[in-house]
Amino acid sequence: AKNDGRSTYRFFDRELQRAMAERMALEQDMRTGLHSGEFYLVYQPQLDSRGQVIGAEALCRWKHPQKGMVSPAVFIDIAEKSGFILQLGQWVLEQACRTLYGWSMDPRLARLTLAVNVSAQQFHHPDFLPQTLDLMRECRINPAKLELELTESIFAQDVEQIAEKMQALKSLGVCFSLDDFGTGYSSLNYLKRLPLDQLKIDQSFVRDVITDSFDASIVVAMISLGESLGLKVLAEGVETESQLEFLRGKGCSLFQGYLFAKPLSEAEFQSYLQQGGPQ
Ligand code: C2E
Ligand code: CA
Ligand code: CA
Ligand code: CA
Repeated sequence: AKNDGRSTYRFFDRELQRAMAERMALEQDMRTGLHSGEFYLVYQPQLDSRGQVIGAEALCRWKHPQKGMVSPAVFIDIAEKSGFILQLGQWVLEQACRTLYGWSMDPRLARLTLAVNVSAQQFHHPDFLPQTLDLMRECRINPAKLELELTESIFAQDVEQIAEKMQALKSLGVCFSLDDFGTGYSSLNYLKRLPLDQLKIDQSFVRDVITDSFDASIVVAMISLGESLGLKVLAEGVETESQLEFLRGKGCSLFQGYLFAKPLSEAEFQSYLQQGGPQ
């Protein structure tokens, strides 16, 4: 019995070391993988209340040569903690701008917006603004078609500085969406002081909106908050008709989720558009 504690300790110690070594290996693989074409973007359609596709969210994918698909929950987290998110995020933005340029050449696609996830670290970096301005110019895209999704974690920094940076991009037409709304620590004061265009209701609230009256109340409150602040409200993670009916009934006007489509390759996204989507 005396040994049990120690061997348990040694077990956890070994497990911890193994997990840390695994993360370090993944980080190294990510750095080489970004240059050897293992990363790509997929596009999840965003629809209005009439079922029209208005745009897409770009989501990053990594196909590891040995491990296969690695979940973004895993690699984005490692990238955030190692600082690699700066390079990865820049790469994502570059790919997204190239895609937008391609769309601008096609009359059926030119009206669509593309939303890109920007991590707090990336947004706060002094290079972010000049790099993004350069990129939009080089790719010759219409900034009004680019939407940046920020999470509430950006609020850890000075709100005036955030607002200024957002304003510089907004003056060119770039839109801003607050992602995972309700899961972080945004105060109403922040919402008022930031030049946002849209709130994205987190999928954790949408999931049980039909069965959980507490989640339903929160969702209703978020929709009316968005309305009263003059913001668009998009519900993410919509999987069922009844969720859609509920949300639409409460005044939510934009939707994204498996009910419509999973994240798609660019070719799949284009054929999804041609079929006109559901409804
Ligand atoms: P997110 O930005 O909240 O993206 C939405 C996630 O929900 C995506 O997961 C999407 O595939 C998933 N999803 C969409 N519709 C449904 C649905 O109806 N039901 C359910 N259960 N899930 C749905 P994914 O692609 O695994 O990405 C996970 C997270 O990784 C993203 O959450 C985002 O925070 C992060 N991420 C992905 N790509 C990037 C990127 O390029 N940059 C940054 N900074 N983060 C990224
Ligand atoms: Ca997002
Ligand atoms: Ca989200
Ligand atoms: Ca999320």
